[in-house]
Amino acid sequence: MEFDKTSESVSAQFQSTSKALSYICSLFEESSDIQSIENSVKCAMRTIESLSAQCKTTSLNISKFSKQVEKKFKGDEMDQTATSEITNDQKDALMTAIMHHYLRNGKFSVSETLSKEAALPLPNEMKNALNELFIIVHSLKMKKLDEALKWANRNEKFLSERKSPLKFELYKTGFLMTQKAFGSKKALEYARANFKDFGASQIKEIQKLMSFLLYPMGSQLIPSISMDEQWETVENMLMNEFCSKIGLPNTDPLLLALEASAVALPKLQKLSTIVKEKKAEWTQQNELPIEIELPIKYSFHSVFACPVMKQTSTDENPPMILPCGHILSKEAVTKLSKGNNNRFKCPYCPVECVPSQTQQVDF
Ligand SMILES: [Zn+2]
Repeated sequence: MEFDKTSESVSAQFQSTSKALSYICSLFEESSDIQSIENSVKCAMRTIESLSAQCKTTSLNISKFSKQVEKKFKGDEMDQTATSEITNDQKDALMTAIMHHYLRNGKFSVSETLSKEAALPLPNEMKNALNELFIIVHSLKMKKLDEALKWANRNEKFLSERKSPLKFELYKTGFLMTQKAFGSKKALEYARANFKDFGASQIKEIQKLMSFLLYPMGSQLIPSISMDEQWETVENMLMNEFCSKIGLPNTDPLLLALEASAVALPKLQKLSTIVKEKKAEWTQQNELPIEIELPIKYSFHSVFACPVMKQTSTDENPPMILPCGHILSKEAVTKLSKGNNNRFKCPYCPVECVPSQTQQVDF
């Protein structure tokens, strides 16, 4: 950051110097009075002085930066402190994770080579599924909706169970493209043909889209929707749904592990230095010796399934702890207390309580 600022200011100084110099030249050409030439020269000198000061700051920052890099990444202290050898199973697990990483990023030939060299089986089912994903994503990048819509139609049940708006978003993209390319009449026909199934779930959004029909053909004025953003939205949405369908997490696990370790590594390195100084040993197996707090995006919560309602908790239906210590979902508490603040018996022990005595639990 500091470096960027300095280089920006250096280039600004260069510009003002060259302006001053060209001004001096113009003064000579017009043979104006000596006094103003002298002033201009003084001004140019001041600029040059400040420029040289800026250069000094820049070089100081560069040397500071390289010292910081050396300090952060010195030696192989981590290796010396690690007492346990990596087992073959762990090595294989790491290789498999790397292979999956290449697959989900579309680097099929790299993952095939890795599979051969590490003598690990390539998950063909996953490879074929991801191949299909990349064909669909490629067609979306080419601004074509057909492949994505075919997939959404084939997986209609899965998407509706997840309450996914993917199919609607795809048609919305089609509507906006039609409006832009062929005008409002064609867009209205498109809407009539494709929005009829979404009347209940997307009525507000459809009303908003209908107002776009007032804009002229090819209009750049369509409010608050950028087509590039819309294509990006459907692409990300499709990738998320597709990954969920084939049982892959939405984010690349290897990338996530790398990011999390970038946060955790400095603390572990500090700890390893202390351990070394005290000549102690790092004895924990498969467990970190200290608790490392990670940003919230790297926190993963357990899922709570209500034993009464047999469903997983949501933001609207959170887990509630009873005074006896047993946990039920909010809906179960409402059901057992018959919707009022009536006393009810915990289904797991005979302790009675009223809903106002229960407390929400965050996992
Ligand atoms: Zn209980």
